[in-house]
Amino acid sequence: MVSSARILGTLCSAINSDVTRSLIDIVLYLHAQHLQQIEAHAERVYPNECCGLMLGCTVGEDKQILEIWETENAWNDETAIEFNADANLETAERRYTIAPEVMLAAQKTSRDRGWQILGIYHSHPDHPAVPSDVDRAWAWSHYSYLIISVCEGQSIECRSWQLDENHQFQPESIVLRNAGEIEIGDLDTTPQT
Ligand SMILES: [Zn+2]
Repeated sequence: MVSSARILGTLCSAINSDVTRSLIDIVLYLHAQHLQQIEAHAERVYPNECCGLMLGCTVGEDKQILEIWETENAWNDETAIEFNADANLETAERRYTIAPEVMLAAQKTSRDRGWQILGIYHSHPDHPAVPSDVDRAWAWSHYSYLIISVCEGQSIECRSWQLDENHQFQPESIVLRNAGEIEIGDLDTTPQT
């Protein structure tokens, strides 16, 4: 709760500042309870990295998260080999992966509801909420990458990122709003082709 309040405070000051929107300046709308769910997930699996999917709809260029899908961190010795990583150094405390069948199930559910997978969240145990080189290497365009920093088991910071056209991460704005504030008519529920 403390960290949510802190993020909300940061966001309010960001909203009030008159910043010209750049190409990557996309707003990620999130319910407060979604953020609390992600924080709780990150703390529960600490010191391992947690991961999950963010499902929802686009609102113009912005994104409205409607559901958080907690997924298992499927990183293990076998996936380390698949990713050409050193299984001794690269453990689930430092890496995450989501099983392909989970991605497919989330895509199907999203399509059935007229939603999309809008992004992936994961935690950085005892590291800042800033993408690593590995995060960047495996990231997909148009997805939001929300990272939650967990320090000694406590979620302390949450930031979201998206790749620009040069495959570099740029920060996204996160705005918390509750379900009652969403105008359903604003949501673009056209399935992504
Ligand atoms: Zn990461």
